[in-house]
Amino acid sequence: MVVDHFDVIIVGGGPVGMALAISLHERGIPSLLLEAQGVPEQVKDPRPLALSFGSHLILQKLGVWSALPQITPITTIHISNRSHFGRTVLTSKDAGVPTLGYVVNYHDLYRAMHQQMHIHSVNYRVGATVTTIKIDAKQAQIEYQQAGENKQAITRLLVLADGGRLATQIEGINYHTHTYHQWAIVANIKTSATQSGLAYERFTSEGPIALLPSGDGFALVWTVPFSSAEAILSLDDSTFLAQLHHHFGDRLGKFMSTGKRSGFPLVLKYASPTIACRTALVGNAAQTLHPVAGQGFNLGLRDAWELTHEIIQSSALTSEIGLSRMLKAYANKRQIDRDAGKLFTHSLARIFITDLPLLQTFCGMGLSVLDSLPPIKRFVARRMIFGARG
Ligand SMILES: Cc1cc2nc3c(=O)[nH]c(=O)nc-3n(C[C@H](O)[C@H](O)[C@H](O)COP(=O)(O)OP(=O)(O)OC[C@H]3O[C@@H](n4cnc5c(N)ncnc54)[C@H](O)[C@@H]3O)c2cc1C
Repeated sequence: MVVDHFDVIIVGGGPVGMALAISLHERGIPSLLLEAQGVPEQVKDPRPLALSFGSHLILQKLGVWSALPQITPITTIHISNRSHFGRTVLTSKDAGVPTLGYVVNYHDLYRAMHQQMHIHSVNYRVGATVTTIKIDAKQAQIEYQQAGENKQAITRLLVLADGGRLATQIEGINYHTHTYHQWAIVANIKTSATQSGLAYERFTSEGPIALLPSGDGFALVWTVPFSSAEAILSLDDSTFLAQLHHHFGDRLGKFMSTGKRSGFPLVLKYASPTIACRTALVGNAAQTLHPVAGQGFNLGLRDAWELTHEIIQSSALTSEIGLSRMLKAYANKRQIDRDAGKLFTHSLARIFITDLPLLQTFCGMGLSVLDSLPPIKRFVARRMIFGARG
């Protein structure tokens, strides 16, 4: 069997794995990206992605931004708590940036990245499912199947961007998991009010509802209890819109139409640590978060960006990639950002679903206090946009 050798092998060609492959390629580091599925025409994932201004800057540097067919700016975020007083409005001016972020379609981003990899001839193999990983102090050896054939490849640095499936094979990496018993229902929605760049995050006792500006309508991410998710997904359109209106309220007038609905089970899953011998984890493989406040991909993109930086530094200083010093530097640099992202989304996902009136009052007060203190608003907004280092 022919065994290929690469400086870096990335397993998983989701948006984070592709971002890393493009970023390494642009800096002259040879890598191989293996993706189990990966045919862009077949990727129909309907989820919207709210990208922070910081992610926009990274995607621009990677040459992906200009290939996105639909980008909707978020100029203001309106945060409220259903049936309780208190609300906060965050504007781009509060954060000192031209816009708070942008909404794009996951499948558009996927195709734009794939196109960029194709243009630059990034080494990318689709339909390649990694099955086995063997690691020693000098290298990682992987086995994968492609078109019915068993293949092998060897690398000095293995990066897992596979959403968290393979790391269980690696000694020393453990996952902590919390199931929310919730699903996110996503759909494109039209309302009688026209969208003007305002994103809504409305907390309810069952979970948050996000309505993000998208094209000439809104992209809905509605968190519902696991027990009612199937029933909500199978409602006819008008009953679905009536229920959504009931939960969200009147701010957007009448809910006029809905596109196809899809559901995603929600879980918090994070690896500890995110590195092992000759191995680093990025994106959902390192941390899978609740979608409230749209942090997951933004965080994963910063993982890919920082890892590229460490790989380049390590290659320049020692001409060796994947040494423990390099891996530790990557893990240390990402620690605060990923801990903050986890704490932020996990707290938001849980705190507002309480039935305790006192805690609900406290949450409402928190939103009002945040609204009246511009320096704190700026602090929160900049951390949502640029990560824990603001
Ligand atoms: C409803 C919803 C809304 C969201 N909204 C936002 C948002 O607004 N903003 C935001 O920043 N984030 C958001 N997220 C989170 C975001 O979607 C994820 O963080 C992001 O897609 C993770 O990308 P990834 O590349 O790390 O992993 P994945 O997308 O999970 O990709 C992993 C890839 O690895 C491949 N793979 C798996 N196993 C193997 C194997 N053995 N061999 C080879 N390949 C393999 C898979 O085929 C897949 O392509 C949302 C999530 C949900 C569920």
